[in-house]
Amino acid sequence: MSTDDTKTMIRLEGVSKTYPGTTVPAVSDLDLEIPEGEILVLVGPSGCGKSTTLRLINRMIEPSSGRIIFDGEDVTSVDADKLRRRIGYVIQQIGLFPHLTIKANIATVPKLLGWSNDRIESRVDELLDLVGMDPGQYRDRFPKELSGGQAQRVGVARALAADPPVMLMDEPFGAIDPITRDRLQNEFLRVQEELKKTIVFVTHDIDEAIKMGDRIAVLGEQSRIAQFDTPERILAFPVDDFVSDFIGSGATLKGLNLERVRDIKLDDFPRVASGSPRREVQAAMETTPDGWAMVVDEGERPLRWVHRSDLERTDKPLVEVGQPIDTIEQNATLRDALELMLHSSTACATVVDKDQAYVGVIRMTTLNERIEEMQHDARVHYDELSRQVSA
Ligand code: ADP
Ligand code: MG
Repeated sequence: MSTDDTKTMIRLEGVSKTYPGTTVPAVSDLDLEIPEGEILVLVGPSGCGKSTTLRLINRMIEPSSGRIIFDGEDVTSVDADKLRRRIGYVIQQIGLFPHLTIKANIATVPKLLGWSNDRIESRVDELLDLVGMDPGQYRDRFPKELSGGQAQRVGVARALAADPPVMLMDEPFGAIDPITRDRLQNEFLRVQEELKKTIVFVTHDIDEAIKMGDRIAVLGEQSRIAQFDTPERILAFPVDDFVSDFIGSGATLKGLNLERVRDIKLDDFPRVASGSPRREVQAAMETTPDGWAMVVDEGERPLRWVHRSDLERTDKPLVEVGQPIDTIEQNATLRDALELMLHSSTACATVVDKDQAYVGVIRMTTLNERIEEMQHDARVHYDELSRQVSA
């Protein structure tokens, strides 16, 4: 299970945990290497010991046997409080303190560390910005005044507060609707690209594992590692029936979770400003096969899809006809893009930059070509492997 060129940040050696009053271990003889600066996903069925494993890493619970090596140092018996300050933790049920403001929630660890008020305040605002929430608007609110997605963002901000090198995330996006979850996953990946934290990310959802993980450990009962590999290799070469059952059908669709929008060719789509005269809009529609135009604002931000027939029906302003445009950013996955296409009347996915300004569109035909390439690559890869095995 060596991790080629990357350094190991945390190593578990023969770690076991049997909870008091039970006889069967929740985690049994686990050896695990957590690579520095990557997201390692622990994925497995409910009850297999994922949460227990995370709690063992930051010593919220004590192992019954085994050793934990953190950055070269045996931390199996150091002061657990000190250890925890080097490790951010996002728990399964968000767990914001309901009686504290958002600011006070995020400031929990910096306060423990004795930071000055000024430093805490600027850190809180910086983190709210980072997770996409306006500090002025949210800093002084209470958790019950947030949506589920916002509470999750604050949970992530709180774990990042003291800039720990390691983050443990226990099903952090579990309890929210699929669209918000997708958005949070993408935002988090963008943040991680900058921060390069060492992250252990727990989920029971294989799609989430494939999307988020640099590496994945597929766990069976008692946290036994069934396979430890890159997402690509787990999809292409599941080691046994347990892993392939867990992956389930539709490996190609799952493979779309591995590819980013920024890696695919974008097409251009005719745009018209929201204040354009009708004649101009109609001219733009003539250049597209299906008679659609994309209406944008002064900042080139996509507003609405307007069809030729919309203009024939009414003379309302452009921003009041047609349909709103859903958009994705460059770090979204091709799976997200497909999702968007299936819900868009134009069958293309509109790509925007960080400021929500138009970048291009992905057409269904382009995505199809990419899928065919992926299937071809997988076949070649598979043939090679079969040849090695039979040689
Ligand atoms: P997962 O997070 O993968 O769903 P857990 O680590 O929470 O699994 O639980 C693993 C096993 O340990 C389960 O059988 C669970 O019932 C048991 N378990 C978890 N926490 C405790 C506890 N505090 N006391 C006794 N048994 C526990
Ligand atoms: Mg759990």
